[in-house]
Amino acid sequence: MNWIDESSALLIVDVQNDFLPGGSLAVHEGDQVVPVINTLQGNFKTIIATQDFHPADHGSFAANHPGKNPGDFIELAGLKQILWPVHCVQGSQGADFHPNLNQSHWKKIFQKGKNPQVDSYSGFFDNARRGDTGLGNYLKSIGVRRIFVCGLALDYCVKFTALDAKSLGFDTFLITDATRAVNLQPKDGESAIEEMREAGIRIVTSKNL
Ligand SMILES: [Zn+2]
Repeated sequence: MNWIDESSALLIVDVQNDFLPGGSLAVHEGDQVVPVINTLQGNFKTIIATQDFHPADHGSFAANHPGKNPGDFIELAGLKQILWPVHCVQGSQGADFHPNLNQSHWKKIFQKGKNPQVDSYSGFFDNARRGDTGLGNYLKSIGVRRIFVCGLALDYCVKFTALDAKSLGFDTFLITDATRAVNLQPKDGESAIEEMREAGIRIVTSKNL
């Protein structure tokens, strides 16, 4: 089946050093998505990336809350917030994209997580859905109707990006072999796929495309 048409965009979520093996918030096998995504990019005219891009004082970092550790919960922007290790700090090497990820055909990069008061898993909106990165309007303005989501991590930023894409009316696909989960709990990745399927997102592999 040829799902990729003229209105399709590939959305590459947060393939950044801190989310890759050796990084501060490494996703197991996260680097294995890089060659898959590079191959996929050849099929798309429109390629967009998101970049987690936090100020050092970001409220999602355990280090900014005395006595707290990664994995603890606090309230942030009125929401229950899990605390993370310091990651993807603006200007740091950890915030850079994987050096082997081909960036030469990207139309635009949308940065998120810049407001220290709220976390931002989705590439479209912050977790409180108050801040908008402009990604949705941008995609609509260039005629995109179908979005293929890949990148890191499946159970956080990829899931929330795909759910927001679907909620904004885009025909949304998840490419399962081009993503990996954090799996704080062993089944988080599987649950994320189920939640996306129930929301009407189509679950495919790069070989189905
Ligand atoms: Zn982050």
